Amino acid sequence: MSTPLDRPFDLLIGGSETPGTRGERAPVKNPASNEDLAPVAVGHADDARHAMEVAQAAFEGSWWASDDGGRRAKALWKLAGLLEARLEEFARLETLNMGKTLKEARGDMGFVVRSIEYVAGLADKVEGETVPVPGARLDYTIREPFGVTVHIAPWNYPLLLAIRGVAPALAAGNAAVLKPASLTPLTAIAFGRLAKDAGIPDGILNVVAGPGGEVGEALVNDLRCKSVSFTGSGDVGRRIAELAARRTIPATLELGGKSPVVVFPDADLDRAARGIAFGIFGNAGQMCWAGSRLIVHDSIHAALVERVAKIASAMRLGPGIAPESEMGPLVSPGQLERVAEFVESARSEGGQVRTGGARASAGELAQGNFYPPTIVDDAPPSARAVREEIFGPVLVVHPFASTDDAVRLANATDFGLFAALWTKDLATAHTVARRLEAGIVCVNEAPVTFPQTPFGGFKQSGLGFEQGSEVVRSYTRRKNVVVNLSVPKPKG
Ligand code: NAD
Repeated sequence: MSTPLDRPFDLLIGGSETPGTRGERAPVKNPASNEDLAPVAVGHADDARHAMEVAQAAFEGSWWASDDGGRRAKALWKLAGLLEARLEEFARLETLNMGKTLKEARGDMGFVVRSIEYVAGLADKVEGETVPVPGARLDYTIREPFGVTVHIAPWNYPLLLAIRGVAPALAAGNAAVLKPASLTPLTAIAFGRLAKDAGIPDGILNVVAGPGGEVGEALVNDLRCKSVSFTGSGDVGRRIAELAARRTIPATLELGGKSPVVVFPDADLDRAARGIAFGIFGNAGQMCWAGSRLIVHDSIHAALVERVAKIASAMRLGPGIAPESEMGPLVSPGQLERVAEFVESARSEGGQVRTGGARASAGELAQGNFYPPTIVDDAPPSARAVREEIFGPVLVVHPFASTDDAVRLANATDFGLFAALWTKDLATAHTVARRLEAGIVCVNEAPVTFPQTPFGGFKQSGLGFEQGSEVVRSYTRRKNVVVNLSVPKPKG
C-alpha cells in the first residue's frame, strides 16, 4: 500500500484536520537520507489551548465518558482492527520518519494493535469496591475518568509510546490530547485520523504537533489538563513533574536508562550474545531500556565480547525501508553527533573500542545518520559513556569477579529501568533478580515486554508505570460514597 506523503500532516482537533492558527507547516526528514519527507503543521500554544477546550467539550458532551465501558471497548477494538488492516502502511511510515528497520516497525505496529485490544478488554472492568464500615451504612467506591488527559511522546517508538498512554486513558473514558515528538509526528497523526472511522466521538482523541517547550507546556499548564503521561528525557520529565506538581495533577514519567546485562559463567554464551546484541543494537540502540552496560564474569569476558563483536560487525546498516537492512540510521544528525561524541569521550577516558567506533559513511550511508554497532571495553566507571545514557548502538563492558561485585556494578547507576541476567542456575536467577534495582528484569531473554506486563522505572528512570492490568484504572480517580441506611424510628 502506498503512503500519501504529499498530503500534509496537520493537527487533529475535534475530528478536523487543521494547519493550526498560524497556518505554519515544516517538513520532517527521512533520517536515512536527510531529505524532506512530508510537510507537518507546526502547532503553537494557542492550538494547544484550543485542543484542550475541544477535548473538554467532547468529554462533557459526548457519550464517551457517560456510557458504559462496553461501548468504548467496541470502538477501541474497531480502532485496533483499522490499524491492523493498514499495518504495513503504518510500518512503512514509521520507518521512513524514524529510521528503524521495517521489521522493527512491523513489530511495533503489532504491539500497538495488541495494546489497544488489551485495554479495550479492560474498559468495562473498571470496578469499584464495597467497603465494610461501622453502623447501618453502605460504603462503596467509584472509578471515574479524570477528564482531559495529556500525553507527550518521544521519537524512538513514535506511535507505540504515544499509544501506551493514550489507549488506556481512552479506555477509562477520558478525552486525550497527544503531543508527538517534533521529529516523528507522522504515525501519530495518521493514527488520529482513524478515530472517526472507529466511531470515537470527535474531540476525544486530538493530536497537536509542535515544539515541545511551547506546545507541551501549554498543554500541561492548561487548567483542563487533569493528568499527564510523559515519555522522554529526564530533564524534560522533571520539568513536567514540576508543572504537574504546581497544578496538583498526577504525572506518569517514563524516562531514560543505563541498563545492566549481567552474564554469569554458566550462561549459554551464544544465546546470551544474541540477546545482548538485540538489546543494545536493536532500533540502533535508541531504546530507553537498552542493555547498554555488559557486566560479565572475568572467566568468560573475552569469549563473550568476541561473540557479541562478531554479531555486531556482521550487522548490515542501511535505510530501514530496504529489506536487507539489519540496522537503520539514528533519528537525526544531532543524535549522530551525540553518539560519536560519547564514543570519543570513552576513548579519551581509557576505553578500548572493540568494534565500530566511527560514523558509517560508505556509499549511500554518507547521506544518512548511520553509526555502526560499537563495543567499548574497559572504560573506567567514572567515564561519561559508562554513567550517562547514550541512546545509540554503544555497549560498554565491565568484568566482575563475584556475584556481590556484579550486583554492585549493576546498581551503580542513577537509573533503574531495566536489567537482564543470564545464568542457568535457578537460585542465582531469582536471588539476583531481587537484588537488581530495576523496574523490569529479564532472565535468559533479550528485553521483552507485553501489553499485560507493567512497564516502569525505578530511581531516575521514572515514576508510575504503563501497561499491565492496572493501567486503565491508573487513568481514573477514586470516589468514596457512604450511604446512611438507618431508618428513623417512628415517633410516639
Ligand atoms: P525529550 O524529552 O527531548 O522529548 C520528549 C517529548 O517531550 C517530545 O514530544 C518533546 O517535544 C516534548 N518536550 C520537550 N520539551 C518539553 C517541555 N518543556 N514541556 C513539555 N514537553 C516537552 O525526549 P526524546 O529525545 O524525544 O526521547 C529520548 C528520551 O526518551 C531518552 O532519554 C529515552 O531514554 C527516553 N525514553 C524513555 C522511555 C521509557 O519508557 N522509560 C521510552 C522511550 C524513550
